[in-house]
Amino acid sequence: MAVQWAAEQLTTFLAALSTATDRASMLRRAVDLAAESLEAEVVAYVEGADAPAITGYPPGRAPVQALVALAQGRSGQADLPGLGTVSYHTAPLDGPVAAHLVTARTGTAPFTDDDGTLLRGMARVLGLSLLASEQLRDERDRRTDSEREAAGIRDLLRSVEERQMLLERLTRIQRSITGQAPLHEVLDSIVAGARELTDSEVVVLRCVDPTDPTALATVAAHGDPHGCLPRTLPAGGYVAGRAFAEDALVVGAGSELLSGFTAAMAAPVREKDVPVGALTVATRTANRTYTRAEQETLTSFAAHASLALSEAHTAEALRGALEAARHDALHDVLTGLPNRALLRDRLDHAAARAKRRPRDMALLFLDIDNFKHINDSLGHDAGDALLVAVARRLVDSVRPVDTIARLGGDEFAVLIEEMASESEAEELAHRLLQALAEPVVVIDRQVEVSASVGIAIWDTLGEAHELLSNADLAMYEAKRAGGGRGVLFEPGMHERTLARLDIERDLRPAIENGQLVMYYQPVVELGTGLVRTCEALVRWQHPARGLLGPNEFIPVAESSRLIGLLGDEVLRQSVADAVTWPDDVRLAVNLSPRELTADLPRRVADRLAAAGLEPDRLTVEVTEGVVMADSDAFAVIDQLHGLGIHVAIDDFGTGYSSLSRLRSLPVDTLKIDQSFVSAMHTCDGLAVIGAILALGKAAGLTTVAEGVETPDQLRALTELGCDYGQGFLLSRPVPASAAPTLFSSRFIPERLVPAPGVA
Ligand code: C2E
Ligand code: CA
Ligand code: CA
Repeated sequence: MAVQWAAEQLTTFLAALSTATDRASMLRRAVDLAAESLEAEVVAYVEGADAPAITGYPPGRAPVQALVALAQGRSGQADLPGLGTVSYHTAPLDGPVAAHLVTARTGTAPFTDDDGTLLRGMARVLGLSLLASEQLRDERDRRTDSEREAAGIRDLLRSVEERQMLLERLTRIQRSITGQAPLHEVLDSIVAGARELTDSEVVVLRCVDPTDPTALATVAAHGDPHGCLPRTLPAGGYVAGRAFAEDALVVGAGSELLSGFTAAMAAPVREKDVPVGALTVATRTANRTYTRAEQETLTSFAAHASLALSEAHTAEALRGALEAARHDALHDVLTGLPNRALLRDRLDHAAARAKRRPRDMALLFLDIDNFKHINDSLGHDAGDALLVAVARRLVDSVRPVDTIARLGGDEFAVLIEEMASESEAEELAHRLLQALAEPVVVIDRQVEVSASVGIAIWDTLGEAHELLSNADLAMYEAKRAGGGRGVLFEPGMHERTLARLDIERDLRPAIENGQLVMYYQPVVELGTGLVRTCEALVRWQHPARGLLGPNEFIPVAESSRLIGLLGDEVLRQSVADAVTWPDDVRLAVNLSPRELTADLPRRVADRLAAAGLEPDRLTVEVTEGVVMADSDAFAVIDQLHGLGIHVAIDDFGTGYSSLSRLRSLPVDTLKIDQSFVSAMHTCDGLAVIGAILALGKAAGLTTVAEGVETPDQLRALTELGCDYGQGFLLSRPVPASAAPTLFSSRFIPERLVPAPGVA
């Protein structure tokens, strides 16, 4: 097709000009090539009253006057000396001086439209090349420094390369037009090309909306992934509307721009020469202006959009393109699900309807647990594949009438309407979690997936968007509770979140101002009733709220990076207390996983040395996960153990340790979680704790039962051979000042201590 052919000719033309060494030879090549391409006998480059390059006449014999006269007209017929009647066509060059390319062919057959297009293209390319070579010459004149000269040449080359890129881009687009690619794809590649070659953040192609002729609707857009730009603009407003209404390139400023932009320009897009829309590029960069070359580039892309529309256009094709653009703006590319914008829209509609029928609508907010970890360890592609698989399972679990959207990242939402009862929302949450329970296969690997779901039920008094934030908050609670579950939003959650924020704000000054105080709970040897260890349990003496337990602020400290500071303070106080205790009483301190940083062993060793406490008088308590995982934290534990410090596994039985592995780990003691102790009154419970004690013994570990509250528990534990007990029955945690009284007491009533020799 002619257009494609023309683009190829232009590419060759540009390439030929770009290698010319001076202005004269560049002009010479231009007229020769133009004559060849257009099959014209005569081509002249006319500048003012002169024609410095002419092909078709022997040197010195050309009718310069006559050719200069032809440059005044556009096209027509004339007599030229030596040729007789010719048909001629001219095209202006862009540039500081008035210049034209004039072509003439013998005979009366006029130049075709395609010929005209090609000639105009060549004139434009020649104008630019001349400009570039002039700049180069000026540069040369001004600077003798050879390095700068090289820079000038590089600039020229770059500008030539840019032109080349533009032409290649346009050629590709032309191929896709002639190759009958779907209109929206062609328009999309035009928009993408314009964005790249004008170095703009945002490019939008808008066309008159078939349903509303006073508005321009977006047909294709790049650089607006979140759909923030308005989908329609008034047909006379902003740069796009003006370019369309005035049928001319508009470079805009100030109030003509959509908010947030610093510069924009738009070129009209025509269908069979009638303006139907505009191609707009815009930038948010400060002090940016669009150069002449960029304006031209935009004009070229707009011309190609016009061509695509004129070629492909049936109302059908444009409607299809508009549909595709609408779909893209409202859907997530990866999963094809509705995006946040569409969810918002549906939510507003549903809310308007639900105002009349209360509480029959709910929103579920679902977030995949540990998605970042999956993404980091298996790679981005696997992460994407996982999201697609999850999306598919979720879709299969909801009714077709429900809206399921991807909000971004690993967040999904489900809007349920017309629920028969409130419990439907919770049932759906359950179904979604079930659907994810089966491992997902991504890139040949099985991945275990779980998710946290927040559920918010519509309350007619609220606003639709509150439903989303309430569900989000409930999801956060589900995460805090360990994930893998659904949590129903309750009004109290807001206050709890605020209270947590207060704690976060006040905790650091509290640590620094000595508001943390230590309590100690004895760990009693069951055989003798004597205290062998005291566990340090931190409290916060809050000026307004009284004595706060660790569960109120340790999780906040862990998530806000204050845990290191807190741990230091606990260690400082408790070591200072422990040096005053009898030599045979150990200090136990709790370490959260987040505290196990590489510098911890050094810091602990220094503390102990400074206070004069032997390392083997300290026990650190860590949870199972830490020692079982083959991680950095494990290495820290190993080093602490190497220093002579004892290691106890806290809350044992709630994690996934295998007892057989424990033997090979740097662990001395198992602290059996209180949940096992409180279940001892059942047959199963008794059997389980018996088994744990037996296996612990077999692995050579000391056993401690936590949360001993009743004499029956104490008796049974003693009979089962448990070494130590800790719990309210023996002693509640006491303030540091009361600790010395613990050491002089025997904690176990005589009748509970087994008589010597009795099994
Ligand atoms: P934990 O290490 O399992 O500590 C035992 C918890 O059980 C303590 O709660 C203790 O008061 C409580 N307890 C003791 N005997 C009984 C009983 O017979 N029945 C019942 N129901 N509870 C009993 P506390 O002091 O509230 O500490 C809670 C958790 O906070 C601790 O659990 C520990 O994980 C953490 N924690 C406490 N102090 C620190 C600390 O200094 N640093 C770190 N990282 N965590 C700490
Ligand atoms: Ca503990
Ligand atoms: Ca515990």
